[in-house]
Amino acid sequence: MTTHDLVIAGGGPAGAAAALGALQARPGMSVALLDRADFPRDKTCGDGIAPEVFDLLSEAGVEDVAEGWAPVDRLSMRRGERVVERTMARSTWVIPRAVFDHRLHQAAVRAGAQPHTHRVTRVAVGADEVQVDERFSAPLVVGADGAHSVVRRAIGLPPGPTAFALRGYAPTTAHRGGTQAMVFGETRQPSYAWSFDRGDGLANVGYGEVQAPGAPRLSRSELMAQIEQLLPGSTTDGTQWKGAHLPLSAWGAQVADGRVALVGDAAGMVNPMTGEGIYYAVLTGLLAGRAAAAALDAGDPQLFGRDYTRGVRTILGPHLRHSALAARLCRSGRLLDAGVRAAQSDQRVFDDLVDLGLANGRITPVVLRRLTRHLLGTATQRTELSG
Ligand SMILES: Cc1cc2nc3c(=O)[nH]c(=O)nc-3n(C[C@H](O)[C@H](O)[C@H](O)COP(=O)(O)OP(=O)(O)OC[C@H]3O[C@@H](n4cnc5c(N)ncnc54)[C@H](O)[C@@H]3O)c2cc1C
Repeated sequence: MTTHDLVIAGGGPAGAAAALGALQARPGMSVALLDRADFPRDKTCGDGIAPEVFDLLSEAGVEDVAEGWAPVDRLSMRRGERVVERTMARSTWVIPRAVFDHRLHQAAVRAGAQPHTHRVTRVAVGADEVQVDERFSAPLVVGADGAHSVVRRAIGLPPGPTAFALRGYAPTTAHRGGTQAMVFGETRQPSYAWSFDRGDGLANVGYGEVQAPGAPRLSRSELMAQIEQLLPGSTTDGTQWKGAHLPLSAWGAQVADGRVALVGDAAGMVNPMTGEGIYYAVLTGLLAGRAAAAALDAGDPQLFGRDYTRGVRTILGPHLRHSALAARLCRSGRLLDAGVRAAQSDQRVFDDLVDLGLANGRITPVVLRRLTRHLLGTATQRTELSG
């Protein structure tokens, strides 16, 4: 048994960020960073990384994670015949997770985290310490072990709503270069196919949809068929097709219990509208790391869960409420159509929707006004047609 100040289960973006947050706030603290995989490792993902992720990492002293990869400036959204393509207010990046996560993990190790290849199977919370597999112990533990978190189960939290998505890599088709293309499904909602140009001749291509409780999930060939239907030609010569679950966020969900905090996917922190999760993973990781350092500084480990929860609610609370509402609204095809038309007619609406889907945005007054106008416009057209 080794004893640490903080044990982090999972060394993906959320776990690495937790280590960075803790070590920046309290240099020299003993942080064990456990992962069942050796890095570099793949992670099934769309690889789209919002600019706000780099803002957070820069605050944590990490500057080089996007080096060698080109920014992507354009985003297109389509539903049926309606399409909007615009330049985003800020560029995003498409970086394979084997590269991005490895760089982040290395940054955490450089900051002082001690990496261990270890699969966590058991977490026991005692009066004074938390034990992980009777091999690691610490007053505080962060669960950053992804969508099927063992730590989450150990503190008795049930899984929340999920989506399922399949992704692969295929040569970027000529007209989709330099673009993140999203095509919304026409049946199940929210759902979309994507083709995100990496800038190196390949695109990350995939399709994902929300899972209704108890409903069977689409087979791999059905998921592939959805991609081809929505983005014809995008799967040609594709490789590395893999599917995975996305645990979707819900406002007010519990993210900690005393000495144990959950971050990233383990906390169910994926945007329910877009499936974006790296921003929330890095943000919640940093918040948990900083809360751990503060609780140790105060000599009161019980402050950890309370202060971390407070931090998440303060910073993300309004966004989580708004994105949950937006995801519900996206179930309506008419509203999705109105959203695409509103984004087409006004750059501010486009920018605000990007912010809501990728980072900490809200449903702003201009989005509401434009949506209402387009919805009423459609209703008026219908009335005129039927009259
Ligand atoms: C198909 C798909 C497409 C997506 N597209 C995007 C996108 O384009 N942009 C975006 O921002 N987000 C996207 N997401 C979501 C994003 O991948 C996740 O939100 C993000 O990876 C969360 O980071 P994390 O560190 O919480 O979890 P992970 O990245 O899953 O890291 C968890 C780590 O824990 C380790 N681990 C798991 N179990 C154990 C255990 N028992 N013991 C020890 N270690 C363990 C794993 O090996 C892994 O390294 C997508 C997800 C999917 C499935």
